[in-house]
Amino acid sequence: MKRTRQFLSDNNSGICPEAWAAMAEANVGHEPAYGNDTWTQRAADLLRNIFETDCEVFFVFNGTSANALSLAALCQSYQSILCHELSHVESSECGAPEFFTNGSKILLLKGADGKIDPAEVERVARNRTDIHYPKPGVLSITQSAETGIVYTPAEIGLLAETAKRCGLRVQMDGSRFANAMASSGVSPAEMTWRAGVDVLCFGGTKNGIAVGEAVIFFNRDLARDFAYRCKQGGQLTSKMRFISAPWVGMLKDGAWLRHARHANEMAQRLAAGVRGISGLEISFPVQSNAVLVKLAKPAEEQLRQRGWMFSTGGITEVDSRFMCGWDTTAEDVDAVLADLREIVRGA
Ligand SMILES: *Cc1c(COP(=O)(O)O)cnc(C)c1O
Repeated sequence: MKRTRQFLSDNNSGICPEAWAAMAEANVGHEPAYGNDTWTQRAADLLRNIFETDCEVFFVFNGTSANALSLAALCQSYQSILCHELSHVESSECGAPEFFTNGSKILLLKGADGKIDPAEVERVARNRTDIHYPKPGVLSITQSAETGIVYTPAEIGLLAETAKRCGLRVQMDGSRFANAMASSGVSPAEMTWRAGVDVLCFGGTKNGIAVGEAVIFFNRDLARDFAYRCKQGGQLTSKMRFISAPWVGMLKDGAWLRHARHANEMAQRLAAGVRGISGLEISFPVQSNAVLVKLAKPAEEQLRQRGWMFSTGGITEVDSRFMCGWDTTAEDVDAVLADLREIVRGA
């Protein structure tokens, strides 16, 4: 059966109406290229308002480049990048952080539920202090994390404090920052720079934009020459307004939070349904738009045979991941739950 929407990833969706309308609005007349246009200015100003600080803002095409280039800005080639062992930086960027930093070594941290344990930061950063091992450079925190959990500002604060004590800078992979914000109810400032984050990669794509992530430097000194990095990395688009206008559409009246909240609610609906099916187990607390379920192989296969798409083995070996997005409907959720119920009952 051909289905319109799936649970494979939140980047499988189309463009949300607010982003689409802003692109159409930007598609009138001429504008200066390379980010010197009014849309890019507006989008950056909206981000400065939302984060309540005079941050530096850059727009790039995707999350991998946002992570890799920001890490390169924070870390010398002889330094190390510390991140959770399940992190996207480690597992899903084809070595881009190592490449753009010219060889920084990635060191892996443990922590339950995909959340970095602060003691691990201390242990790994202090493990070696001799000249023969990379100097600790930067801590990368994913918010919301790959498992779907969300750090509290206090947890971010403790991690950042530990990092700074060990001489590390702090970068946040916020490819799903919107979902984390919708879930937490605190302010974007509290979740980032007030807690000690130097740079945030704020994801637009999974939130409903076609293409584009914002790299936000709260520590402006670290943004020095970042525009050159973007250009050299092939990330400076000439028709920048089509990347930045959708951000204006998303930010100007809170669509980013509305869409993220909706995606999170759909994940809660899915999780509640799964909990009601005896024999199924959810692997992590559901705090954003991901639901990871321990599905036995035969059940997983039957669910695929019924036309459903989701990922298995992408985060942990044993979990099947169901992602909800801005366009996931309650009917989608109820339909996959009905199939799951039948499959598990028949097993
Ligand atoms: C999707 C994702 C990214 C960005 O991936 P791209 O495909 O490069 O846009 C970064 N971090 C996390 C945690 C992600 O899930």
